[in-house]
Amino acid sequence: MDVRSVAVIGAGTMGAGIAQVCAQTGWNTRLYDAFPESLTKGMVAIEAFWDKGIERGKTTSTQKAEWSENLRGVNDLAEAVEGADLVIEAVPESMQLKQDIFAKLERLAPSHAMLATNTSGLSISEIAQSTGCPERVIGMHFFNPVPLMSLLELVRHDTVSEETIAAAQSIGSAMGKTTIVVRDVPGFATSRLGVVLGNEAIRMLADGVASASDIDTAMRLGYRHPMGPLELSDLVGLDVRRDILNNLADAFDDESYRPHPLLDRLVEAGDLGKKTGEGIYDWTSGKKVER
Ligand code: NAD
Repeated sequence: MDVRSVAVIGAGTMGAGIAQVCAQTGWNTRLYDAFPESLTKGMVAIEAFWDKGIERGKTTSTQKAEWSENLRGVNDLAEAVEGADLVIEAVPESMQLKQDIFAKLERLAPSHAMLATNTSGLSISEIAQSTGCPERVIGMHFFNPVPLMSLLELVRHDTVSEETIAAAQSIGSAMGKTTIVVRDVPGFATSRLGVVLGNEAIRMLADGVASASDIDTAMRLGYRHPMGPLELSDLVGLDVRRDILNNLADAFDDESYRPHPLLDRLVEAGDLGKKTGEGIYDWTSGKKVER
């Protein structure tokens, strides 16, 4: 599949990162958001990332100029997907919202376009069924921060075509990612393992096994994880992790996946992790501090 033009739907944490990498790959990239202020925030974040790269000597001004040329923020969905070979959706994790968007994408995007969702755990099959072209729909699960994380988890459902999977693999390689292909089961491979480890670490913290930073150090130094499971939970967002655990418990009808009560309490208190300043750790000083 020859990709020249890409539309990214949703300019939040993930959408902005995906659009940035698409522009860096040399594709004509349009970033769309339903909320103008979110679009502006996403475009500013990309620009800031590139500026920081220049400051650190990792990016040249010429590169930034070329990449900026490839990227355009758009406030209209039809305009965003016009002529797109690939559309990547990165709106909030709601089945209804994603199905509404995919029904629109089928209508508005070219009939050859691949339609990808960046969902962390919703059923790709259910999303694909909201279109009349499930063979062109695939899960493309990127990781945060997208420009720095090399994994791309591709999710195959029962009615996706082999051509779509092969094209998604070559798109991933072109973006500099290593792809894995996973069946469409709740939590795929990464979210399922990640949240289970995080939930167990929270249970250990609540049981007083060790301090948060000692639990994290155990996994960093004992198992060579680049970051401990509690710090990672704070970074991803405790609300996001709780939702995934609840989805897994419901989908597998297995209560052992349910979020630990401490995780529920933190989310209900609005302590969602780094993004709100407090989570398992206190981030208000900009660095993680034991609470
Ligand atoms: P986010 O809240 O940062 O961004 C979502 C964006 O979608 C917002 O800018 C919002 O304004 C926009 N939006 C809302 N409704 C819209 C609509 N109808 N049309 C267009 N835009 C709309 O969320 P995020 O963290 O970027 O997550 C997006 C998706 O990626 C979710 O499915 C999430 O599960 C998945 N994901 C997140 C991470 C992560 O670490 N944050 C990692 C992998 C996958």
